[in-house]
Amino acid sequence: MFEKILKKKFKNRFLKDKFFSEITTFRIGGKIKFFVEVKKAKEIIFLIKLCKKYKIKYVIIGGGSNILASDEGFSGLVISTLKFCKIKFSRDKVSAQSGARLSALVTQAKNKNLSGLEWAISIPGTVGGAVVMNAGAFGEQMSNFIEGVVFFDGKKVRRLKRQDIFFEYRNSFFKNAKNVVILTVIFGFFHEKIEKIQKNIEKYIGLRLKTQNVGLASAGSIFKRMPNVTAAELIDKAGLKGTKIGGAMVSTVHSGYIVNFDNATNKDVLKLIDFISKSVYNKYNVNLELEIIQIGD
Ligand SMILES: Cc1cc2nc3c(=O)[nH]c(=O)nc-3n(C[C@H](O)[C@H](O)[C@H](O)COP(=O)(O)OP(=O)(O)OC[C@H]3O[C@@H](n4cnc5c(N)ncnc54)[C@H](O)[C@@H]3O)c2cc1C
Repeated sequence: MFEKILKKKFKNRFLKDKFFSEITTFRIGGKIKFFVEVKKAKEIIFLIKLCKKYKIKYVIIGGGSNILASDEGFSGLVISTLKFCKIKFSRDKVSAQSGARLSALVTQAKNKNLSGLEWAISIPGTVGGAVVMNAGAFGEQMSNFIEGVVFFDGKKVRRLKRQDIFFEYRNSFFKNAKNVVILTVIFGFFHEKIEKIQKNIEKYIGLRLKTQNVGLASAGSIFKRMPNVTAAELIDKAGLKGTKIGGAMVSTVHSGYIVNFDNATNKDVLKLIDFISKSVYNKYNVNLELEIIQIGD
């Protein structure tokens, strides 16, 4: 019955043959039983209620750029937000649906002479995923630019102002809350000349190309940074650059990244993570903490 309803309501936006390897930047992970691309907030709410009714597990995915998915896939529903991506402007306020790409947000804001998130231009995620993760770079983070978040808490749609939402380094209320889906994020940007915004964008693209042009599938930094040192620095100093297990390798360009250089599996990556963690602990007595999210069965 669950499947019949999905077929009828979502037609070709309901798929049964998607693999996590197709929808994550790591290009890893097995088959997904039910996959739906949503276009409206009310479709997300409908799906979550339906999952509850039929006791089906579900997970939300945006850009899939911070995810290590299971080789076994997922026996529930994956809700993709990528088509739920409208961005609206009014004066210096910007309201973005959670599936909007950060790059689209930065570019569209630029065209309205609005500045703020240029540092995020190369982060390959969506607004929703970036708020969940409190994504950041070059000393900035999402929470500095958020004015409010509209989300579905499993029962009703709620709206919280920035000051009432817990955020810390690569962590947020939304990451820890179960069953919460971000629908829309309201940002506060500031007016700037388009030329200046464009310059900022080019500066940040340039900086990233210099240090993080890993050129292979990845999920970005695997571990969180520590107060005084990055995980990449410790991994580098421990001599682990280029270490391989199966198809997974510590990037030779940026030691904080694990890259999928040859059909890596989830297990390859987990073994490599374990090896790195133990090596860094034995050498520096530091426990590395994972930044990426693991999903699937
Ligand atoms: C090459 C590369 C570079 C990167 N550089 C950076 C960087 O500089 N800084 C940084 O912080 N990160 C970086 N990342 C990691 C990643 O891009 C960010 O964390 C990004 O914000 C994740 O967004 P996403 O849409 O891809 O989220 P996903 O990976 O799809 O999801 C991440 C988590 O958020 C949840 N989620 C997604 N959308 C919603 C929603 N609407 N409601 C509720 N939960 C949701 C998912 O269930 C999952 O738990 C990089 C990744 C790559 C591959």
